[in-house]
Amino acid sequence: MTTPLVEMDGDEMTRILWQMIKDELITPYVDLKTEYYDLGLKNRNDSDDQVTVDSANATLKYGVAVKCATITPNQARMSEYDLKEMWKSPNGTIRAILDGTVFRAPILVKGIVPYVKNWTKPITIARHAYGDVYKNVEIKVPGPGKAELVFTGADGKEIRETIHEFDGEGILQGIHNTKASISSFARACFQYATDTKQDLWFSTKDTISKKYDHTFKDIFQEIYENEYKEKFEKLGIEYFYTLIDDAVARVIRSEGGFIWACKNYDGDVMSDMVATAYGDLSMMTSVLVSPKGVYEYEAAHGTVQRHYYKHLKGEETSTNSIATIFAWTGALKKRGELDGNAALTDFASKLEKACIKTVEDGKMTKSLSLISTCKDPVILNSQDFIKAIRETLDTLL
Ligand code: NAP
Ligand code: MG
Repeated sequence: MTTPLVEMDGDEMTRILWQMIKDELITPYVDLKTEYYDLGLKNRNDSDDQVTVDSANATLKYGVAVKCATITPNQARMSEYDLKEMWKSPNGTIRAILDGTVFRAPILVKGIVPYVKNWTKPITIARHAYGDVYKNVEIKVPGPGKAELVFTGADGKEIRETIHEFDGEGILQGIHNTKASISSFARACFQYATDTKQDLWFSTKDTISKKYDHTFKDIFQEIYENEYKEKFEKLGIEYFYTLIDDAVARVIRSEGGFIWACKNYDGDVMSDMVATAYGDLSMMTSVLVSPKGVYEYEAAHGTVQRHYYKHLKGEETSTNSIATIFAWTGALKKRGELDGNAALTDFASKLEKACIKTVEDGKMTKSLSLISTCKDPVILNSQDFIKAIRETLDTLL
């Protein structure tokens, strides 16, 4: 390796897996260079969360990060870790600095059959990660009255629309988005489509929302025509816009193999549907693609707290490490690509193949055996599963 990866360590069971993965699957084969940031909750608390900010800034500097799952503190964690503050979600903090779009795709293996039987290729969901209902303002309307939408320009000029004349109790919600954020969402999607040579679908409810959703559609179209049309045509890939209702119907009938860009809420809901249909979150890859040209790879699942408590009690766990391994391989591959280091990219691809082959050969964790059609799976504990992947890897190298 020439350029270091930004390594963001995390919490609980995934932190245990993190070390095992490095020891068994990475450092014996790769002259690993990383700049290490400990995003474990204790260190976030000790550093007043500065470590999270530093790790995101390091990602802007080096270009590629790999992140372990981390605890987002809630009330229970306040006392468990004796926290000074209820620190924000690290993913939220990192996203705010890098800005960007999260792409999630299933990892397909034989024996784990999608519920939708014609989905033979992965469907990648690209979720806009800013605004709309996630940054809303809400009012519970107590009784009769008039609700208005008012914008006061910096020059003092007003735009005013009546929302509704209430004759009784009701509810109100104000949402927004910005041209800058929608544009960077669009660019991230077009860029990822060209990087991975897949068609890009985008869907909104523009027939009903003639200004809000329609603006998303217009911005995508404009950026496509001005910046990406030629590249798409050269690669033989397609940009396709359709109404969300139509998209849902087409997605179900499709064979997969494309990127589906979704507004924030649609992406939240649809990514859970797609993940469940393909297996579960432990068989998903997840990458944050920033319009600043940097990448952060992670697993789509959390810290697997329940397994960690079993581990602490000395009980055996059977936690699936594949999504975390794919975070590492995604980052190593991208690093190899950016540095022209073919040996690194090749190693990462072989490690991915080793994961898939190990499961297809019938060796898997408990959670995988529950969704696999494999007749007599060999159920391995967390450590032995990683060791089995190493054995497969050795045969591939
Ligand atoms: P979780 O860690 O995803 O685990 C929920 C359940 O899903 C587990 O108890 C386990 O089910 C199953 N599971 C998830 N990943 C698995 C794997 N790799 N192998 C086997 N089974 C797996 O979600 P959570 O328990 O709701 O959250 C725990 C912590 O993670 C929270 O503090 C949350 O803040 C954090 N979190 C972090 C991220 C992130 O950093 N990206 C994302 C989500 C949540 P069984 O117990 O039935 O085996
Ligand atoms: Mg969700």
